[in-house]
Parts: sequence; C-alpha cells; structure tokens
Amino acid sequence: MATIGVLALQGAFREHCAAVRRVGHEAVEVRTPANLARVDALILPGGESTTIDKLLDSSGLREPLRRRLEAGMPAFGTCAGLIVLATSAVDGIPGQRPLAAIDLVARRNGFGRQVHSFEAPVAVVGDSTPMIGVFIRAPRIVATGPGVTVIATMGSEPVAAESATIMVASFHPELTDDDRLHRRFCERVAAVVQPV
Ligand code: GLN
Repeated sequence: MATIGVLALQGAFREHCAAVRRVGHEAVEVRTPANLARVDALILPGGESTTIDKLLDSSGLREPLRRRLEAGMPAFGTCAGLIVLATSAVDGIPGQRPLAAIDLVARRNGFGRQVHSFEAPVAVVGDSTPMIGVFIRAPRIVATGPGVTVIATMGSEPVAAESATIMVASFHPELTDDDRLHRRFCERVAAVVQPV
C-alpha cells in the first residue's frame, strides 16, 4: 500500500482522498513541508491555480515540493493541478509560476469560463469504455513535449497525459465514481514503493 498525499491548500482535495481510499491506498492531506516529507506521491487537485500558486509560497511548500518532483516523486494533477505541474500556463496571471514538472503547456480556462463547464465522454487510450469527464473552467493541453504521452482524449482533443513520473487530467476524475485514473496512478506509485 502506498501513502498518497493530496495537496490540501485549496480545492477538491477531500474527493481525491476518498478516491485514493476507494482504490485501497492511504490518503494524507498535505499542507506543510512536514506532511509532504511522509508521502510517496502527491495529487494536486482542481480549484484555482492562481490561488494554489500563492499558497505554495505562503505554506513554504514550493521549494520542498519542487525538490521532491525533481527527485522523481510521482504526482497527479487534475484541472488546476495540471496547470500547477505544467511547464507554462498561457493566460495565467502575472507572477504565476507553474512547477514545470511535466513538459506540457496549458491554457487556463481553455474551454471557456465557468458558464462553459460541461460533462463529456472521455476515451481512455487502450480502454474500450469511455469515462465521464467533468470539465469546470478546465485548462486545455495546448502542447506536449517528446516524453509525454496522451492517455485520454475528448474527440481529437488531449485531456489527460503522462510522463515517466507525472500524470495530468484537465477534467475532475475525483467528482465521479469512476476510479480508473486514480487506480492507474496509485498502482504506478505502489510499483515504485514496493517493487515486485
Ligand atoms: N480555471 C481554474 C484555474 O485556472 C481551474 C478550474 C478547476 O480546477 N476546476 O486554476
């Protein structure tokens, strides 16, 4: 069993904790560097990336988190969390500093603002059953680098991707009871923590 941290500064962290527990792993809310030190991996939830960005500084988490990501800690970012992990954010606010943990450019509110929130079927690559994607002022994945693979699409649009250590989704898998992406992430983490 892996210990999965969920960044709990702002946003939909409780729902992520519940999903992690449903797929059989320990979930820990992360608000401080000490919390971060005891987790094997971190989920960055949806919410508001500009707020999370500021709270990373005031909580003292930015540097320790940057170092853990650089050292290969797995992370999974959804919606705002995708923006926080990206290389850069188009339409970010001045001073917003994504962590550049995955080679991907995100456009904030790329599908429109709150009024344009919607649900749509998402095709998971290699899986015949689509999942329901809940998109809330979602970012658009506008570019990915060579080490990044698209793992889910909505029509021809990439909506989830992964690199060697990072997973991201522009929608909110924690707001449905389809735990496929959480299971995929937690199993990857468990394989690193307890190599078989
Ligand atoms: N638009 C938000 C942002 O820029 C993300 C919305 C969400 O996480 N649901 O951070």
